[in-house]
Order: sequence, then C-alpha cells, then structure tokens
Amino acid sequence: ADIAKHAAKADRLGFVVYRPELDAGAPEKLALFGDLRRAIRDGDLLVHYQPKVRVEDGRVVGVEALVRWDHPDRGMVPPALFVPVAEQTGLIRPLTDAVLDRALADCATWRRQGLDLTVAVNLSARSLLDLSLPERVAASLRTHALPSSCLELEITESAAMKDPGRALEILHRLRALGVHLSVDDYGTGHASLAYLTRLPVGTLKIDRSFVQTMELDSSDRVIVRSTIDLAHGLGLRVVAEGVETRATWAELAQLGCDEAQGFWLARPGPGETIPAGVTELERR
Ligand code: C2E
Ligand code: CA
Ligand code: CA
Ligand code: CA
Repeated sequence: ADIAKHAAKADRLGFVVYRPELDAGAPEKLALFGDLRRAIRDGDLLVHYQPKVRVEDGRVVGVEALVRWDHPDRGMVPPALFVPVAEQTGLIRPLTDAVLDRALADCATWRRQGLDLTVAVNLSARSLLDLSLPERVAASLRTHALPSSCLELEITESAAMKDPGRALEILHRLRALGVHLSVDDYGTGHASLAYLTRLPVGTLKIDRSFVQTMELDSSDRVIVRSTIDLAHGLGLRVVAEGVETRATWAELAQLGCDEAQGFWLARPGPGETIPAGVTELERR
C-alpha cells in the first residue's frame, strides 16, 4: 500500500507510470527509485568510458559509455542494480537522455583535442520500444554539433525480441540518421539468426561470458571462433568484450576479431582520463 501511495504521488509529479513489477523488490527498490529520480534530476549520474581497441593495429577507435552512480550513503551502486529499477519505473528515458548528452558532450571535447573517437551508448529494452528515441538522439547530436557517425548504440537481442516489429522500425529510423548499431551480449539471447540478419546492425559484440573463459574452455573457444566467422560471413564487425588476459588478446588476434574491450586493455574511467589512457594504450 505504501509503495502504491508513493508511486501514485510520483505519477502526479509526472515522473512515472506505476508498474506492478515495482512490488517485487519492495522497499529497497522504492528507496532506490526516489534517490535515483533525484540523482537524474540533479545531474548527479556520472558516465565512465572503456576504450575499444582495434585488434589489427592496437589503435583505440572508440569508447563505451557506462553509467555510474555515486550514491551519497551507499557509495557506488552498480548499473546492474539501478538500470533495471529505472526500466521498471519510467526513469529510463531521462536516464538514457542524461547518458547520451554527457557522452556526446565528452565526445565533442575529445574531438576538439584531436582525438577521433566514436562513443557507444547502451540502450535498454524499453528505450528500444520508445518511438521518441530517434528524434531525441538526433536532437542531442545537433546540440553537440556532432556528425551521427560519432555515435554507436548498443542493443541486446532480448530487447529487440520483446516487440520485434516496433524495435525494427526504431532501429531503421536510427540507422537512417547515420548512427551505428551493434548487438550487445551476443550469444546470451534467444533471437533467431534469421531475425538478427534483418536488423540494420553493423557489429556483433560477443558476450564476455564466452570470451573470459575461452582460454580454459574449449567449447567457449569454438563459440568465439564460429561467431567471428559467422559475423564476417554476414559482413559484420566483431567486438570481443571481457578480455582479461594477454593470452585471450593474442588468441583473438589469431581468430581475426576486429575489436576488443576488457580489463586487461583498460578499465572504464572518467572522461578526463581518456586522452592519457588512449596514449598509454597505444604505446603498449
Ligand atoms: P555491458 O553493456 O555488457 O557493459 C560491459 C560491462 O562489463 C561493464 O560493467 C564493464 O565495466 C564490464 N567489463 C568490461 N571489461 C570487463 C572485463 O574484462 N571483465 C569483466 N569481468 N567485466 C568487464 P558495468 O559498467 O557494471 O555495466 C553493467 C551493465 O549495465 C552493462 O553491461 C549494461 O548492460 C548496463 N549499463 C551500463 N551503463 C548503462 C547505460 O548507460 N544505459 C543502460 N541502459 N545500461 C547500462
Ligand atoms: Ca554494452
Ligand atoms: Ca556486453
Ligand atoms: Ca552484459
């Protein structure tokens, strides 16, 4: 009853549509929801960036934007905890807008410093069903005077599968803007390959659960190798995430993987650390 009351109040304030899923995690989620709403409103969410390295020549070609929330009492709250809360409470649109705006602002700064990097922003399932998304993306690119080729959007198979028709429509509109699209966490969803080939995406990101263990588990190595071959056969670029050792990096080079991300290369960090981080990575 308490939750319903708070949600109804929040609804009147124009923030949320009450969703019964919110009942599941009860008071904990409700507390997070209130604090998160405030954090978004006050511009307190941070964005960190993890470099994407081209395997062929070791150049840093882009970064992935990862949202961070330094909660006043709880400290760093992981996105795996609060992004789902945002999804369930109608906060995902302002969250996505905040990350997009910050990421494009930082990208514009790097370009002024002579760094030609693309920036990738993660889209949650609900964003992918939001028909206002393409226009908001276009507006943010205009605000920061950036060409659309600077931006990449990462979507998951399972998000696209929630309402394949609508997702396809939104993806085509985004693609028409000139934004790059990639499928994240590839291999963990249940999308049919036939469906994925109909999406206007240019890149597959192999989920880190396969990459992290490919040195130890021969079936993971087979999955990584065949995903690379399959993607290349379809004319797609492949990014491996979760590269944690030199051995994995070397193996990926052997298999012809296009780009890699992972703690062994670089951990996510604040935007200001990116120029120095890029220089250091490329010297290695
Ligand atoms: P993701 O999109 O798959 O992002 C990659 C996650 O793997 C990040 O965790 C990153 O810090 C972590 N990672 C990178 N390299 C390694 C590695 O070598 N080893 C290991 N073990 N982990 C590595 P993070 O930042 O905690 O994000 C978790 C998830 O939260 C993301 O997974 C994404 O699904 C979601 N997320 C993060 N930022 C956003 C955002 O701005 N919007 C939305 N909708 N979702 C976000
Ligand atoms: Ca991602
Ligand atoms: Ca991923
Ligand atoms: Ca993931």
